[in-house]
Order: sequence, then structure tokens, then C-alpha cells
Amino acid sequence: MNETEPSCIFVCPDRLYEGYVFDLDGTIYLGENRLPGAKRLVEKLRELSKKVVFLSNNPTKDPKMYAEKLTRLGLPTSEDEVVNTVVTMTRWLLQNHPEATVFPISEEPLKRSLREAGIRMSERAEEIDIVIASYDRRFEYRKLQIAFDAIWLHKRARLVTTNPDPYCPLPGGRGEPDAAAIVGAIEACTGARCEVNVGKPDPIMLETVLGMLELEASECVMTGDRLYTDVRMALDAGMPSAVVLTGETTAEILATERDENKPDWVLDRIDRLLPSQMW
Ligand SMILES: [Mg+2]
Repeated sequence: MNETEPSCIFVCPDRLYEGYVFDLDGTIYLGENRLPGAKRLVEKLRELSKKVVFLSNNPTKDPKMYAEKLTRLGLPTSEDEVVNTVVTMTRWLLQNHPEATVFPISEEPLKRSLREAGIRMSERAEEIDIVIASYDRRFEYRKLQIAFDAIWLHKRARLVTTNPDPYCPLPGGRGEPDAAAIVGAIEACTGARCEVNVGKPDPIMLETVLGMLELEASECVMTGDRLYTDVRMALDAGMPSAVVLTGETTAEILATERDENKPDWVLDRIDRLLPSQMW
């Protein structure tokens, strides 16, 4: 910390990592606007041949759609550099329940991914092993009835979710009910509890990323704007972490947070991830 600024809360890394994992909204961009330093940082990391991965909890898009958005915002990105809950749910099923018949209450990107992975899907309650509650803007009573029958009537299906978010923030201070609302509806009528979440803050998400990158947690740094998802997940996965104060977390929030919930690094802008000698 700079001695001339004893109140400075920012603590930046003095080294490079092999892998850089980023949250998107509030970290790399805000809505449709790229955040300061994002382009410079990503270009520099690519020049240094560092591995870069972008994360999102949102299962209503595929990695391709995120890659297109990042590319449009001036950060050329390929599909395999994006991991969202469509990717983590598909991988989790393939690794843990490849033979299961699943009923996804979800939008098309997750169904498409499951189909491409060869995972069996069904709407027949008596043969469903896993109900996947997801962010589904076409949720309706018929889907709830199938989940209810599979879990409560036939007593065979387990309940899992893509992501634990209660709502998805939208520009202008609005929001949309997210996967937690669907989980809540199913739990309320069946008495079942959701057993698995493959989105942030569950470390399953970072384990998926590490498997793809073939790196150890200690060789990477996770950067995001939320302490209770981005940073929590990194802490639980044993990965170094940074919070950038361009999104949800403010200096005031950080000041009142307990030490065990704090990241290694606190950044005013994302390109502070580059060691000072590179500025
Ligand atoms: Mg964020």
C-alpha cells in the first residue's frame, strides 16, 4: 500500500498468473458498455499468452452469444473462452449422471446443449430422474405439474438448478425473476430441496474451468464485482481472487465485510491486474 495514501483501499497484484477468470457484468462491461481498462488488460494477457476465461451464471444464452457480445465490444473472444451454467450443467450431468433422464425447465440454449451432449430428456414424469430448474421465461403450470409428479408422485426425481440467482438485473434498475423463483415453486409444492447448483458461488463452476484450462487453482486469479458470488466461489475453490469496484461492491460494503470474505486484491479498475511495472 502506498504510504502517502494511508486510506487507500486498493491492493493490486505484483505478479502475473497463468490463468485469468473473469465475471462479465460489472467487471468487463456494464450492460452494453465496456468498462475502463478491460480492452487493454485482455489484449495484454493475450499478448503474454495467458489463458483467459469469462464466466456467467445466465443459462438463457450460450457461450457463442457471449463470445459475440465480447467481440462486438472490442474484445475478440472465442466460444471456448466462455463458461456459463449451460456449460457447467451439461458437464456436471455427463460426469455424474450420464445415464439419467432429465427434465429441464429452461430456455433453448440449455436444451440444445443437453441434446448435443446426448443426454436424454423427457416430459414423462414417471421416467424423469433429474428435474433441472433454470431461468425460464416460458415457465408455466404444466411444467410445474411435470416436476411435481416426477418428484412427489413418483418419488424418483432429484431437483437441481443451473444457478441460485433470485433475479437477473436489467438496465434501468429493473430485473427478471431468475432460476431461484422456479426452484422455489417446485420446493414449495413437493417439499423437496434443491440438491445441486452448478453456478456461482458453487466451486463446481471453477472446477469446470480448471479442468478446461488444465491449471491448478493457485495458478489462476478470479476477478469479479460481487463478494458473495465471485469472491466466495474463488475462496471455496482455493483460487486467488480480486474484487473490482466497478459493479456491485463499493468501498463502504468492503469496509464492513469480515476478513474471511475478502479477496486477495482490491482494484479500482480491471487493468490493475497487471503488475505496476507493466503500466
Ligand atoms: Mg458481476
